[in-house]
Amino acid sequence: MTATGINEAEKIDVSVKGAALAAANAGKFDQLPIYDRAIECSSRERIRAIQLEKLIAQVEWTYERVEWYRRKMDEMGVKPSDIRTLEDVRKLPFTDKSALRDTFPYGLFAVPLDEVVELHASSGTTGKPIVVGYNDHDMDVWSDCIARLSQMAGVVPSDRVQMAFGYGMFTGGFGLHYGLQKLGCMMIPAGSGNTERQIQMIQDYGTTVLVATPTYALHICEVGERMGYDWATSTLRVGLFGGEPCPPGLKQEIESRMHIVCTDNYGLTEVMGPGVSGECLANRDMQHIAEDHFLWEVVDPETGVPVPEGEMGELVLTPLDKQAIPVLRYRTHDLTRVVTDKCACGRTHARMQKVRSRSDDMLIIRGTNVFPSQVEDVLTSIEGVTPHYRIIVEEVDGLDRMTVQTEIKPETFSDSFEEMDRFRALVAEKLKSVLLVGVRVQLIEPGGIERTTGKAKHVEDRRK
Ligand SMILES: [Zn+2]
Repeated sequence: MTATGINEAEKIDVSVKGAALAAANAGKFDQLPIYDRAIECSSRERIRAIQLEKLIAQVEWTYERVEWYRRKMDEMGVKPSDIRTLEDVRKLPFTDKSALRDTFPYGLFAVPLDEVVELHASSGTTGKPIVVGYNDHDMDVWSDCIARLSQMAGVVPSDRVQMAFGYGMFTGGFGLHYGLQKLGCMMIPAGSGNTERQIQMIQDYGTTVLVATPTYALHICEVGERMGYDWATSTLRVGLFGGEPCPPGLKQEIESRMHIVCTDNYGLTEVMGPGVSGECLANRDMQHIAEDHFLWEVVDPETGVPVPEGEMGELVLTPLDKQAIPVLRYRTHDLTRVVTDKCACGRTHARMQKVRSRSDDMLIIRGTNVFPSQVEDVLTSIEGVTPHYRIIVEEVDGLDRMTVQTEIKPETFSDSFEEMDRFRALVAEKLKSVLLVGVRVQLIEPGGIERTTGKAKHVEDRRK
């Protein structure tokens, strides 16, 4: 025992490989780091009070400075002074992607451009991109959110972080970079691609944390295995994922093959970038929302009316201290549910279930609703297939046809046609039992589905 009464032997050094997860699994959450304990563990009353104060100021800021919102609010007959409770947020107009697109590039900016210190954009598949700007204050808030979620995964200032996200206009690269630097980590800005070099860098620089999309992390894992790199003894111990949803099966596979702990975070360019919410080690299916910076609502995607707490719906976000581009009630189209009970990790900020589907990525196959995440869940539950897959939807003789291409593991591959056909039928049957619609299955040989260094594109809808 030391003079302070703390038994030093019981203190856990979370920078040791596997220690953070082992501590979490043993329920020793008080021994895990929390970046901003005063805020992240404050009472629900205090969180709501902070939110209300910021909401009132944010609506005033927005109304006074952005003509687009002033016009919308005037049309609806709502003034900033009408916002007196958190529930009053419902009086405000929704914002969707088109608002940002229609005002391209600077129409929604609330500060003069000489106050803007950074610009990002998300590439639109159609039309103009979505452009967002940040002033110094916005950059601070962003870094703060990233520092918090990094500590949730057990990242500490002594970590060496290899960034395998692309930099550029995409918010993921720089967003994570600044936040991890704020935490005190050493950044290794590798950028995406050149996979063998990524592994060489992990080895040369003693990288402890990898930032990547989950599909790219798996690719790095596979290439490393082929090169004979031993992930079990590697210095790498944490994966910070983002850029695309990470199904639980994929995460488990990466964790066991790379011997690392992986968490992922949620965010979107329109409201900030990555860092809106992050996964703690106490409940791997949920993510804590940075509630002092974001007011959340969950609404019925059809009607826009809030659903009861804890029920599934579309996430709507109002950033509470976003100065350069304020956004009110942004419709994310992401489906989730949010709970507010205290988490075992000690944090009190509300938790959202990880987003697996968007209201607009639902496929309608012969009248049945199918989400790509359902296909993903079935495939990751089958021994013998890899997490690499593709869904192709086409119209054949006036009928929808859905084909799932799934890549099999080398040990599943066989020269026997009968054996392969039996396996194919098994996959098709499992898919049908969950999707309730018949699916064509094609087995693809190991390595046959193209790997990507960024977001994987799983769905190809060829229908008109
Ligand atoms: Zn937690």
